[in-house]
Amino acid sequence: MTRPRYVYDFDDPSGEGRELLGGKGIGLAEMTQLGVPVPAGFTITTDACRAYMASGGELPEGLEEEIDGHLAALEEKAGKRFGDPRDPLLVSVRSGAAVSMPGMMDTILNLGLNDEAVRGLADRTGNARFANDSYRRLIQMYGGVVDGIDGERFEDELSKLKEKRGAAQDIDLSAEDLADLVETFKRLYEDETGGPFPQDARDQLARAVRAVFESWDNPRAQVYRRAHHIADDLGTAVNVVQMVFGNKGERSGTGVAFTRDPSTGEPGLYGEFLPDAQGEDVVSGVRTPQPLAEMQKTLPDAFEQLVETMARIEEHYRDMQDIEFTVEDDRLYLLQTRSAKRTAAAALKSAADMVDEGLISREDAVARIDPDQLDQLLHPMIDPAADVEVVARGLNASPGAASGTIVFDADTAAERGQTEDVILVRWETTPDDIHGMIAAKGILTAHGGMTSHAAVVARGMGKPCVAGCEALSVDAQAKRASLNGHELGEEDVITIDGGTGRVILGPVDLVPPQINEDFEMILGWADALRRLRVRANADTPEDAAKAREFGAQGIGLCRTEHMFMAEDRLPVVREMIMASGEDERRAALEKLLPHQQADFEGIFEAMAGLPVTIRLLDPPLHEFLPPLEEAKDERMRERIRALREANPMLGTRGCRLGLMWPEIYEMQVRAICRAAIAVEQRTGDAPLVEIMHPLVGFGEELKRLRAMTVATAAEEGELEYLVGTMIELPRACVRADEIAEHADFFSFGTNDLTQTALGFSRDDAEGKFLTRYLEDGILARNPFETLDQSGVGDLMRTAVERGRSVKDDLKMGICGEHGGEPASVAFCHGLGLEYVSCSPYRVPLARLAAAQAALREAGVEAVVAGG
Ligand code: PEP
Ligand code: MG
Repeated sequence: MTRPRYVYDFDDPSGEGRELLGGKGIGLAEMTQLGVPVPAGFTITTDACRAYMASGGELPEGLEEEIDGHLAALEEKAGKRFGDPRDPLLVSVRSGAAVSMPGMMDTILNLGLNDEAVRGLADRTGNARFANDSYRRLIQMYGGVVDGIDGERFEDELSKLKEKRGAAQDIDLSAEDLADLVETFKRLYEDETGGPFPQDARDQLARAVRAVFESWDNPRAQVYRRAHHIADDLGTAVNVVQMVFGNKGERSGTGVAFTRDPSTGEPGLYGEFLPDAQGEDVVSGVRTPQPLAEMQKTLPDAFEQLVETMARIEEHYRDMQDIEFTVEDDRLYLLQTRSAKRTAAAALKSAADMVDEGLISREDAVARIDPDQLDQLLHPMIDPAADVEVVARGLNASPGAASGTIVFDADTAAERGQTEDVILVRWETTPDDIHGMIAAKGILTAHGGMTSHAAVVARGMGKPCVAGCEALSVDAQAKRASLNGHELGEEDVITIDGGTGRVILGPVDLVPPQINEDFEMILGWADALRRLRVRANADTPEDAAKAREFGAQGIGLCRTEHMFMAEDRLPVVREMIMASGEDERRAALEKLLPHQQADFEGIFEAMAGLPVTIRLLDPPLHEFLPPLEEAKDERMRERIRALREANPMLGTRGCRLGLMWPEIYEMQVRAICRAAIAVEQRTGDAPLVEIMHPLVGFGEELKRLRAMTVATAAEEGELEYLVGTMIELPRACVRADEIAEHADFFSFGTNDLTQTALGFSRDDAEGKFLTRYLEDGILARNPFETLDQSGVGDLMRTAVERGRSVKDDLKMGICGEHGGEPASVAFCHGLGLEYVSCSPYRVPLARLAAAQAALREAGVEAVVAGG
């Protein structure tokens, strides 16, 4: 058996892809092969990582020899030897999975240095400061990544030294200071690990490779993968790259740059630069970087190379790129390129511009917008009319506004964020804060730039973030902050505006955001591509109007019970439930009828020309009564006791109500018919009415309900309408043929169908075992959020086939929550449903997801975000 090949040079022509080489590896290989200046190096494949994990931590057979061979080739190219004490070849070791996980795994720079080589490097370069700086960085990163030493231990020593020397920044430290720091770091390393800092370069490399493999499974990477639905078994590649040095003095530096502005999408280079620094200084926010324009002044040649190179890269990838670069003595090197993480607004603008520029097609533009990300544009903003007291400003790192109580650490955010709105306030965030960032409504940091961890991660989550707020100082231990002189603690509420960088004391009124031209244009292109229609779930004329604004093509579900809950109606509804006989019940229903009719008229008018599906009463009646202890008299207590059921969701609800007490549904049908007739008389347009019965499981149920509907409607006059049913029970799916005999349409109620097919209570599962199921990987996704395609989806497929076997023109759609979730929308496209129906705010997202499903079917894939 031949064993797989585990190592590929960047200039290897075999054309292996992202899965094997990871995002960083494939970017380095492609750039090398494009002739972009990239340091030499090689990639150890994700296969090797998977083999390492599968064996419980053994390097796969032959890997070490293979690495040796590629290292020898690298030495040849570099004209230096790894471990040479006089003129050492130094390398970085960088993780890089196939799917972008920014900052989640580890990097070590300057591998190959030791006590002797640091002197060799100093002699060779005539720059002892640089050599010592490189060595102290190696000890810190290696100590952290390989031996798990808390980075703050090293940072504390650095701060102490700076204080002692009166140095404001680390670049103010001298060569001798840094030599002292190396000694301090080595002692710290020995204290922590019980052994000296390893002096053998190959030993350093082997342990670094193992550590990067292991970083795939560190807790923060696991949390990130869960939040982004990334499979746990992909593994990471490891890149071994010849070091280039940004910390060699003022002709050197390091930076990150985007080919367009990642917040707005405006064309033009955008980024940050730190002179005399190594890569991690920019990302970690240790020093606040300069805008790229400064680099144009200080390093004009390298800047020009950068502009030219980035234009080439964007043209090659036909997408906005995010690069890391280093300048060593005026020479530019690119260390990474990936599809840039961007805000939704920037994604839309750059895609629309690129279509204009002839770089991509309209289909490409539609394919590359992330539907979940569109949500960002639909986020609340601060009401422009609100009178706000701006106490500080930071960088506008991720758009949207949020108000919440301050919390100072990720654990507290994760805990309190479950029950209240919290804003995570940090000096700067690190990847360990990920769970707190997920739980918080917004993030505010004192340090770091637009590409700092907080900024990048928040943007990806579509969460408001203000970063680098210099007026803020944080004492996380004492749980206190000072914001421009205001003392704040964990009881105070603040508001942040990630679109402008404003920080405000107290809560602020928020308004829904505006949709811009790019948004309309790309969704217009999407509409031309999709087959699925998109309707909305709306119960009021206001929601219906909002849904129509977002492009809804009708209402797929109007839940009539919400009208029963209104304050002025609930007493009458209770009267109806308390009624001692049919006559009394009919009298109460008579009083409800005009209310329902008025609601339906408003909805029909808002949706003129578009279909409206109205579902008759669904919930168990006890939901309209108060809790037993709040009942106003013995009669009510008695009724509450009589209606009590052990499993109300499987009890007297849905169409069972209409069969037990037909006068309830009759009243609703009458209200619908009268509303439709009134609207037609008023406007001249007949509403497109669809009357829907819930929780049907048997053909006989629908047969009787249809007869009741038709008879009642006939009493009201001439009217066209459809009669259909929710399909939300497994039996209804399996016996869809029997039910289709009496139905004009089916609408899949996948909330109840998930509940009944999986036997998971939709009210309790998430708060109980389901979270654990997801954490333990028993289930990959929450089935109430995204369709369980192989289970519930299979039932749906059966229903479609059996329903159509009886009536080939049976209309079918979905109105469960899944109708607004991209993967489920794609599934419904595949099933051949006619429409999806979702909440108004998700309509744009569903329009896009439906177009992408059609494009995928036609073979157009989205550009994969790299990294
Ligand atoms: C469903 O069950 O999927 C549905 C849409 O109805 P409801 O959520 O009102 O039960
Ligand atoms: Mg239901």
